[in-house]
Amino acid sequence: MVRVKVNNDHSMDLHDLKSKMEDVIAHGGIPIYVLATMGTTDTFGIDDIYEMKEILKEMEHRYQLAPIYIHADTAMGGMYTFFNDYDFQMNPLGFDVEVNAVLKDYQDKFRYTHLADSMVYDFHKLGQTPYITSLLLIKEKKDLVYLDLDASETPYVGNRGYGSYHTSYTLECSRMGSSIAIYASLLAFGFEGYQQMLANYLKVNIAFRTALKAEFTNVEVTNEVSPVTTFRFYPENTRWREELRGELTSKEITEINLYNEEYAELIGLDRDIIFFGNTKKQRLIFACDSPTRIPVYVHKFYTTNPYTTVEEVDRYITFLKEHMAIHFKATLMAEPV
Ligand SMILES: *Cc1c(COP(=O)(O)O)cnc(C)c1O
Repeated sequence: MVRVKVNNDHSMDLHDLKSKMEDVIAHGGIPIYVLATMGTTDTFGIDDIYEMKEILKEMEHRYQLAPIYIHADTAMGGMYTFFNDYDFQMNPLGFDVEVNAVLKDYQDKFRYTHLADSMVYDFHKLGQTPYITSLLLIKEKKDLVYLDLDASETPYVGNRGYGSYHTSYTLECSRMGSSIAIYASLLAFGFEGYQQMLANYLKVNIAFRTALKAEFTNVEVTNEVSPVTTFRFYPENTRWREELRGELTSKEITEINLYNEEYAELIGLDRDIIFFGNTKKQRLIFACDSPTRIPVYVHKFYTTNPYTTVEEVDRYITFLKEHMAIHFKATLMAEPV
């Protein structure tokens, strides 16, 4: 497994993909599979699958390779394929200009999801179904042949043991029927219902970002507009630009991480009122005095509920502010005299 760099928007760096694949080939290897991510869990980075496919086709041609398989991990983002046919000019559902712009940008990327050989939908994330209702879609049934076990060893699996047994091609034998919840939700909400909910996640996140930046001088939003907002606090003014430029020392970055971690502990005590997620490693950044990159701690505002509306945003911000006041006092008292 070869790791590929990402761009600042957390999508895959396709130049790096290409050079890593050329490296593999130069060492006698054969690239067989690329894992694209369309909607990363923490930051919602979306890989450019169209360009990726162009690169793969070109490499297949140049090096006489069998088609290279692409799996698109669309667990989080896949729901946004529901806008692939949305007419943003007519805007029949009347989305705000800002929401429209983000959705249009998503459409430009998700409309090419069909180039993937397989993809997945986590309906239990943005799709209003219970844990765990995920759906794996594979374009060509014949690709599963590579996973075939010997028929005599596995009489229950696959098409063969029982002839055309109704479990058909599957890696599971008895199944829990989670597809029923997915099907019911698709029927209940319909295409438009889903489009409204998915657009609302963006609307709420845009409002949250705006309010956050208006109410705090010591905060930085660290990802692009999406159903997830990641943000980082600073003991005084924000130093995000300097951090990104690699100008801070590793000690300074670690201290800012700790400041955020302690704040996360504090708001976590009241998680039954409002729950904010967090991650210790949104991305890696360079420090001015260290050869290894350092992970960045951020908080996450992650909306998956239609009752999370723009009207609620004030309440979320007030919650953060009240806890920041407590955190501020606590860190002052902890300062060595
Ligand atoms: C959640 C998530 C997964 C894991 O899916 P589960 O169905 O929760 O196991 C994989 N990839 C991405 C991008 C995700 O957001």
